Amino acid sequence: MHFNHIHYDLGCRNCKNIRPNGMTMLQSEEVIEHMSREALIAEMDNFHGIQCERCGAEGDWLVFRISLNEDDEVRDQFKINIFKENGRISGKPEDGFFSPAQIEIAFQIIKDEIKALKGQEYVERQDGTAFIMVDFIKEEPYSRVSIFDLDGFTLREVEQFINVLSAGV
Ligand SMILES: [Zn+2]
Repeated sequence: MHFNHIHYDLGCRNCKNIRPNGMTMLQSEEVIEHMSREALIAEMDNFHGIQCERCGAEGDWLVFRISLNEDDEVRDQFKINIFKENGRISGKPEDGFFSPAQIEIAFQIIKDEIKALKGQEYVERQDGTAFIMVDFIKEEPYSRVSIFDLDGFTLREVEQFINVLSAGV
C-alpha cells in the first residue's frame, strides 16, 4: 500500500472566499507518479462535501490548484476577473509577471475555449461575475484553460469583453 497526498487550493464560487492548503490522503496499491487535474478533482468527488466556512455554501468550489504529492505541474497562472453591475461590464487580468508571448497564448486559448463552448446556455443577469484561469504547465500542451466560470454572463458578453481586453495588451 502506498500513501499519497492530494494538495489543493479552492475558491468559493458563492462568496469568493479562498480556502488554501487543503490536503487529503490517498491510498493506492501501486505507486502513482502522475494524475491529471481532472482525475484528481474526480478523485476528490468535486469537493461536493466541503462546506465554505464563510458563507456556508457546500460543494460550490473553483479548484485553483490541485496536485499529487509534490508533483505540481503548474508553473504559473493567468487569471481574469470580470464583473457586471447593472449591465455595465468591467474587469482585468490579475497582476502577475507574464511575457507578452504568454499573454498572447493565454488570450488565444481563452478564445479557443469560447469557440468550443458555443451553443452552451448561460443564464444572463444584470449583475454577474466571470472568472477565467489559464494554467501554464511544465509539459505539453504547456497551457490550458483550467477555470471558465460564468455567473450571470452570457458567452457573447464574455467573448466581446475578452476581445476588448486582448486588443489592449
Ligand atoms: Zn463561500
